[in-house]
Amino acid sequence: MSAIVPRSDFSLLSANPALVYLDSAATAQKPRAVLDAMNDFYETDYANPHRGAYALSARATERYARAREAVARFFGVRDEACVIFTRGTTDSLNVVAAAWGRANIGAGDEVIVTGAEHHANFVPWQQIAIERGAIFTICPLTADGRADVEVLAALVSEKTKVIAFNHVSNVLGAINPVAEIAAIARSVGALSVCDGAQGAPHMAVSFDALDVDIYAASAHKMLGPMGTGVLIGRREILDAMPPYQTGGDMIAFVGDEQTTWNVLPHRLEAGTPNVAGAVGLAAACDYLTAIGMDAVAAHERALVKVAHERVSAIEGVRVHGPSAAERSGVLSFTVADIHPHDLATLLDERSICIRAGHHCAQPLMRRLGVTATARASFYVYNDENDVEQLVEALKSAKRLFAVA
Ligand code: PMP
Repeated sequence: MSAIVPRSDFSLLSANPALVYLDSAATAQKPRAVLDAMNDFYETDYANPHRGAYALSARATERYARAREAVARFFGVRDEACVIFTRGTTDSLNVVAAAWGRANIGAGDEVIVTGAEHHANFVPWQQIAIERGAIFTICPLTADGRADVEVLAALVSEKTKVIAFNHVSNVLGAINPVAEIAAIARSVGALSVCDGAQGAPHMAVSFDALDVDIYAASAHKMLGPMGTGVLIGRREILDAMPPYQTGGDMIAFVGDEQTTWNVLPHRLEAGTPNVAGAVGLAAACDYLTAIGMDAVAAHERALVKVAHERVSAIEGVRVHGPSAAERSGVLSFTVADIHPHDLATLLDERSICIRAGHHCAQPLMRRLGVTATARASFYVYNDENDVEQLVEALKSAKRLFAVA
């Protein structure tokens, strides 16, 4: 099984032919098309958008607007004003928890998250619940790490104001039934907030079809730049959300006593925007669309299937999470008697990059009964040889530790 994009599209990968990069769930490598688009903005159309009456500034404004259109297309959002550029998933989720949460969650209300959330979709909700005197409830998981929707449906009540959940778990690769959870939230008038950091890079996402209220993603996990992300929301929710920060183009009029706000999307984007970041994300969206998101998902599924079979066949290895057919391209595992950090260090000696630790998901680690796992994650530039090298390196690590 070959990669579905040429390795030569990625300067870092072609400069390091021996590198086995299996950490795309943390951050993905960048194709030249993304770097070129960002560079081109700096070299040809660079100025502060919105605020200049001169042609160059108008061109920068235009680049920013076109980037938003491309990103809206990728995420299946008809109304591009509902795509807000942020610094990333963490930023997007914090904005919603702070701005929407403060305005809509009161004492005695309930906030629900799942036990498989990344800290970025757990802590902001936990903290706003503490601040507002609300009840913070953790929805249990099925054995394979998805939100248990039967329990969730029984848990919710008219007190429930928010259900925050991941599209795909960054630890287990388990895929949540997003539309089903959104429907449960809607049945009690709660806000559904989907952390799409591990969804958007790996499968076709249609915001309109998923039917959630809020969807968040990070550019850097989907071949785009660091420091950029999106907060996508239904218009009536974003329109009613108080501004999170003030200043810059989010202002309509500043009086001595009162200030009025600009319309969406500007109202939720205070300060000079990260235009190059948006341009880079748009280029990444176009690059992924040219491959086809169904092809991306199928490729990862095929790789993770082989990896799942081969890795779990090694004695003493425990693979966490769902069966290969039901997961995206993430494989978390623990190896008896070898700490995940030691494993990652040994693999690094063979130029294999995997992640080890709690993956910013300590509540999930507790539920799995471990303190850390090793995680290999796959993307468009990985091939079966990468899986082979991972398997060989794991076997070698086991031999080494057996002798020690
Ligand atoms: N949620 C999930 C599921 C993630 O995997 C990550 C990144 N590890 C985040 C949120 C946070 O993303 P970022 O650091 O880009 O804000």
